[in-house]
Amino acid sequence: MSPDGSARSPRHPAWADVDDASWNDWRWQLRNRVTTLAQLESLIDVTDAERRGITGRHDFSFAVTPYYFSLIGGPDCPVRRQAIPLEDELRAAPGDMRDPLAEDEHRPVSILTHRYPDRALLYVTHNCPVYCRHCTRSRKVGDEASAPARSEFEAAYDYLRRTPAVRDVLVSGGDPLSLSDARLVDIVAQLRAIDSVEIIRLCTRNPVTLPQRITPALVEALRPFAPLFVHTHFNHPTECTPEAARALGLLADGGLVLGNQMVLLRGVNDDADTVATLGRWLLRHRCRPYYMFQCDPVQGTGHLRTPIRTGLQILDQLRGRVSGLAIPQYAVDLPGGGGKVTLVPDRAVSHEGPRRVFRDASGELFTYVDAAD
Ligand SMILES: *Cc1c(COP(=O)(O)O)cnc(C)c1O
Ligand code: SF4
Repeated sequence: MSPDGSARSPRHPAWADVDDASWNDWRWQLRNRVTTLAQLESLIDVTDAERRGITGRHDFSFAVTPYYFSLIGGPDCPVRRQAIPLEDELRAAPGDMRDPLAEDEHRPVSILTHRYPDRALLYVTHNCPVYCRHCTRSRKVGDEASAPARSEFEAAYDYLRRTPAVRDVLVSGGDPLSLSDARLVDIVAQLRAIDSVEIIRLCTRNPVTLPQRITPALVEALRPFAPLFVHTHFNHPTECTPEAARALGLLADGGLVLGNQMVLLRGVNDDADTVATLGRWLLRHRCRPYYMFQCDPVQGTGHLRTPIRTGLQILDQLRGRVSGLAIPQYAVDLPGGGGKVTLVPDRAVSHEGPRRVFRDASGELFTYVDAAD
């Protein structure tokens, strides 16, 4: 990227004549999303499996911003697989659930899930710029006509005020950056005004799917509310564009602390090289890889899920070969609402008395003589 930030990723020819001011305006991007099969047919060679996916899937929206759409390549493209439905979404797979994390059961008020003693998750909108095909909340996002009512927000703030054990609030949705700056800042300010809330996290995929949404004005408006964390959701190096880099740079310069939550997806990012390349790019842009999630068993994602063994192999291949800062924790969110567990590949080989034997990244064995109990 050039120092003045003028570098940009290619545009699909359909939008070649759009002036830069419109293209860089997030509202223009939202107004011009690809949402129908007819639009899609005019832009790319749609496969039969995609055609049947779009016409057959009625319970989960389809929408792609022109920016994110322009990153799409051939049928196996990692961006395409995240954004365009396949017929496979209509197939049931073993373990499928509608609400795998039982988020709806753990709601003391309608827009808040409280599972861990000290953390709560607040749902502030149902909208997202792009509807990711692997979304854990496909059951509730995408209904753009509905929005939580003021009274639901008041109930959530009341709950947090009388539950001081909650020190960490995750603002999620949908994507909270779908709201206007004023609305988002109001929510953050209301949370910041609660003494017991120490940490606020914004969970947003906008840096990936609509980086134009990250404006200097938004960042300046959020700056006073530190410590404010941003969890974003890059899944593949194809998403690592000059526009995304600029968005992360603005956020980091604004004092927001950045972390990435990738989701392991079959045929998208299920190999160590991809995870390492992504992790290194994120670190260069001050965004720490935080979680690598096992894909939740949401209905319609069977074709995207990998075996847990694959995730463990990826971590095993990363440890010792790339900066530890670039290695995320591998997390499985337990179906039924048990919360997250993290898995690590086992490098312990054997132990006899105090002598514990481990293998290194290349398979060579090393002994650690353990301390007595
Ligand atoms: C993931 C999650 C959190 C945050 O968990 P961390 O491990 O602290 O990042 C909080 N609440 C719910 C309901 C979650 O699913
Ligand atoms: S941005 Fe997040 S909430 Fe929205 S569809 Fe993608 S994964 Fe789901």
